[in-house]
This record gives sequence, C-alpha cells and structure tokens, in this order.
Amino acid sequence: MYQTRRYLADISIDKYLEEYVDIPQFLELCKACPNYNRKWSCPPYDFKPEDYWNKYGKMHVIGTKIIFDEATINQKYATEEIINIVKTVIKKEQSLLFDELLALEEKYPGSISLAAGSCSLCENCARPDSNACNHADKLRYSIESLGGNVDKTVKKLLGLELQWMREGNLPEYFLLVSALLTPSI
Ligand code: SF4
Repeated sequence: MYQTRRYLADISIDKYLEEYVDIPQFLELCKACPNYNRKWSCPPYDFKPEDYWNKYGKMHVIGTKIIFDEATINQKYATEEIINIVKTVIKKEQSLLFDELLALEEKYPGSISLAAGSCSLCENCARPDSNACNHADKLRYSIESLGGNVDKTVKKLLGLELQWMREGNLPEYFLLVSALLTPSI
C-alpha cells in the first residue's frame, strides 16, 4: 500500500532561527488548533521557544515521505475510509519514527528530538485537567510548536512540497517532518 523514504538536511540553529523561525506568526496559527493549551507538547509554554532553540547548535532535519502506491492513490474513498487510512498509517509511522528519534538521542549525548506533530502518547492529554504530563521524559515538542516554518523547511531544505488530500483521494504522499537538535560543539 505504501513505502517510506527518508530525506535529511543539516542547518545551524543560528541560520534556522534567522530564516525559518517566526514565533509570533506560528503562535497565532497554533491558537487556532484544538491542541492549543490542551496538550503539554503545544503552546502556550512556560519557557521562551527562542531559549529552547538556543540551547542547541545544529538541527538535523529528518523528512519521512510516506508514498502510497499507484492503485491506492487512484482509488476513490469515502471520507470516513480516508480518515481511517490516514489515522492508521500516520499513527504507525509516527510511532516508529518516535522510537527511532529516541534511539538517536541516546546515540548523540546532549541531543533532543523534535517530533513530527503534537504528542499522542496518551489517549487523553493530562493538560486540560491541569495535571502534569504523564510521560515527561518522553514529551517532545514539534518544529511548528516552537515557531519553525515546516512548509519552508520542507521546500528549501528537503527540496520537497507538502501535499494535501483531494476529495475522495489520498495524496501521492504524506511527509512527517521531525528533527534532532544537537549541542554546539
Ligand atoms: S505524554 Fe500524555 S500527558 Fe504528556 S503531552 Fe503527551 S499526551 Fe499529554
């Protein structure tokens, strides 16, 4: 039904902050998302995102392209079916990617990963009940939640385009965009 392909790019945090990060702009977009203030992985934060970025020296962008085969792309689906396929495929690949990123953190001391999307480790996040995160050791922010422009990152650093669903059809591919931040040397 699909295969995955990896795309990688490296950039200094200084350059990424200068050219790809706009915290006020993306904070406004986050405010329109149902996860805003309802997941600990999402804004608002009790820290400044620029301080978070500045703890690191380099960003290793990791794009995971989920490429559907031709028969799957050409098939027409009911909206429900598409939602189910997307949920299943993306959830599975996000979970594999998450484990891979944690393994990279172990391999590169002092590094931290940025997840592809908001945290979905718990069925219901603890934040709406004002409880602490259930898995604080595994909580990872995403590029966009820290003000990074994922669309520009994908285009300029990975040489790809984000694709969206058309009515009744899956796109050719989805992209999961994650990263590993490593310390300044
Ligand atoms: S680990 Fe659970 S409680 Fe913590 S941010 Fe993720 S979903 Fe929320």
